[in-house]
Amino acid sequence: MNERELAGLVKESKVVKMGQDLVRTQSVNPPGNELAAAEYVVEALRKSDVETELVMHGENRASALARLKGERKGPALIYSGHLDTVPVGAEKWNHEPFGGDVAEGKVWGRGAADMKGGLAAMMTAMKALAEARVPLKGDLILAATAGEEVDSLGATAVAERLSREPIQALFIAEPTYNEIYIAEKGVFWVQIETFGQTAHGSMPEKGRNAILMMVEIMNEFKKMDIPYRNHPILGGFTRSVNTISGGIKTNVVPDHCVATIDMRTVPGQEHPAILRQLENIIQELSQRVPDFRATVKPVNDHVPVETPPSDPVVQKFSTIVAEMTGREVVFKGANYFSDAVGFLPVLKVPLILFGPGEPGQAHQPNEQVEVSKLVEAARIFAVTAARLLG
Ligand SMILES: [Zn+2]
Repeated sequence: MNERELAGLVKESKVVKMGQDLVRTQSVNPPGNELAAAEYVVEALRKSDVETELVMHGENRASALARLKGERKGPALIYSGHLDTVPVGAEKWNHEPFGGDVAEGKVWGRGAADMKGGLAAMMTAMKALAEARVPLKGDLILAATAGEEVDSLGATAVAERLSREPIQALFIAEPTYNEIYIAEKGVFWVQIETFGQTAHGSMPEKGRNAILMMVEIMNEFKKMDIPYRNHPILGGFTRSVNTISGGIKTNVVPDHCVATIDMRTVPGQEHPAILRQLENIIQELSQRVPDFRATVKPVNDHVPVETPPSDPVVQKFSTIVAEMTGREVVFKGANYFSDAVGFLPVLKVPLILFGPGEPGQAHQPNEQVEVSKLVEAARIFAVTAARLLG
């Protein structure tokens, strides 16, 4: 069977139905409850002679792992999509968030773009390859993961299981509107705390004001130079002080203040070096200001990721996308982080993000995915697996 015939086996009705079914299977995280969605994946693929397995993560939480066996003469390929979604939000939707309506050429509902649509495209591609009995040198592995929206617990567990076999690349179907993303910014969140002593608000000289200590730190932080080099795809490093709280009453000197900072890093930056800069600010202030006490600690720490455009998998994939869509390929990157943070520390393989949803639809009310993009992604996934594993 040639690639055109293989792509033809991916039917619009099938990928749409699968996307609808997944949207209708609620898996809002927190709490997740991805078991039903994982069971759906297992059921749908088992019918096609694909080896399937549920990977449990506690009560009502699971990832699904599916494997279309090759001849074991080459490395495997991983297709991954997360099962969980963010909550619906307070705004009124035009279509039922868990209805999976098809209207105006789109599938509507929470997760349609991020990323049940992408997962449906990968599953449909796998089914087409299985049904056509396309000979593969390596295995095609599909990982439908739990927990991406909170802590990537599914990806971390699945990566552990796959850590001992040769793997050539990891594709994640995050919403990229069928554009190729090969880099992801790092995320480095820190929490700063200051400690003082309470006193009556009319006698501030008897206390030590934790909020004013935080002000000192923030003044220094604003001036602090955090070095980085602009990345050709990701752009620059960003930082933003996004929460602060302290004090209990207007007439009480505050003895405690907490602030958090969201930093997004680019390749070349080292998170421990940034942490050391913050520690130096605190140390310097403790020497200069009497009774100054503060701490800083990371609360979310994932390094930036990049796959070079010259990577052979990236090259082969961009050729396929250009051939099948007629579009010129421009490599892009994500400001957000994906399940790559769970997979890559263990697997260390080239990463490509590619999926049918629009990036702007993620986490929005009235989330949807275009049917034409869904079908296009599914066909590209089918041909890509055939070529990379062929
Ligand atoms: Zn996502």
